[in-house]
Amino acid sequence: MQTRITEMLGIQHPIVQGGMQWVGLAELAAAVSNAGGLGILTGLTQPSPEDLVKEIARCREMTDKPFAVNLTILPTIKPVPYEEYARAIVDSGIKIVETAGRNPEPFLPLFKGAGVTVIHKCTSIRHSLKAERIGCDMVSVDGFECAGHPGEDDVTNMILLPLAARRLKIPFLASGGFGDGRGLAAALAMGADGINMGTRFMVTREAPIHEKVKQKMVDASELDTSLIYRSLRNTARVFKNSIAQQVLEIEAQPGDTKFEDIQSLVQGVKGRELFEGGDLDKGIWSAGMVVGLIDDIPTCEELITRIVAEAEQIISERLARMVSA
Ligand code: NAD
Repeated sequence: MQTRITEMLGIQHPIVQGGMQWVGLAELAAAVSNAGGLGILTGLTQPSPEDLVKEIARCREMTDKPFAVNLTILPTIKPVPYEEYARAIVDSGIKIVETAGRNPEPFLPLFKGAGVTVIHKCTSIRHSLKAERIGCDMVSVDGFECAGHPGEDDVTNMILLPLAARRLKIPFLASGGFGDGRGLAAALAMGADGINMGTRFMVTREAPIHEKVKQKMVDASELDTSLIYRSLRNTARVFKNSIAQQVLEIEAQPGDTKFEDIQSLVQGVKGRELFEGGDLDKGIWSAGMVVGLIDDIPTCEELITRIVAEAEQIISERLARMVSA
């Protein structure tokens, strides 16, 4: 499959692995890139910009294909030296960056000056148009189905993607809810130039998380996610476990919720421990509604090959038959 995105990113298949906190390590990013997609290292998963430089070097040892780095700018418990992370990315010679969370405009002169292709993740059309206007090269349109932070508008990809196709000139990825060939074919039909998958790549052999977490996601249905931090206007879709339930109970109490009331439950470091040790109620972890479509733990190569073959078959056989009579 050739799309504007495969051409611009220099990849074989129109499939990108989205940035994921604690999951976007070199093992996963390299596996996705080696399988012909675009792997992404998560910048803030590394404790310092110096560690990110080392992780980029480690990834280069595992693949000679293009890979990217994600830089997410959202509220954090500890202040993050974003500028230093951005400089570490550029100084390491990375040529593709996925930005997310806030307007990436302050970082664009640095990235564009270094010839970096910027993909900005957006949860609304107005943010996508803004990203185009300020000079981002492409956007990743993240529907309400997505894992992590879906924004506060609650518009699903069935509406967002056709709107993006009507209004954007730059290419866009469809993100949120994608995990199989039907999804890829549908995304292309709705005007996207490829798909971005996070949750689906968590449930692969190479994802650096505990097998119990992967198996829990295989067993889960589409009803097994919760929306937390709604009351703080920093909504996040996470796997429905006992910690997410406790957070929701605190948020439902009368009066304003303060982040301090839930901080000890949701701190990212507990999520990391959950991924490492497999204690499914240690903290929270991001997961999208697509968990309902996941029922195996393939390698990234098997997954990408299968998705592309399935989508090609749908387009060239099922859909072609419908219009050929
Ligand atoms: P962390 O430990 O600093 O915070 C844990 C969670 O609490 C994060 O979701 C964060 O956004 C939220 N948070 C922190 N301070 C807050 C405040 N004052 N008000 C409201 N919410 C607050 O974060 P982490 O888990 O180490 O993650 C690091 C970065 O990666 C954060 O920016 C986080 O949002 C981001 N992240 C993004 C996704 C995604 O889906 N895009 C998923 C996980 C984490």
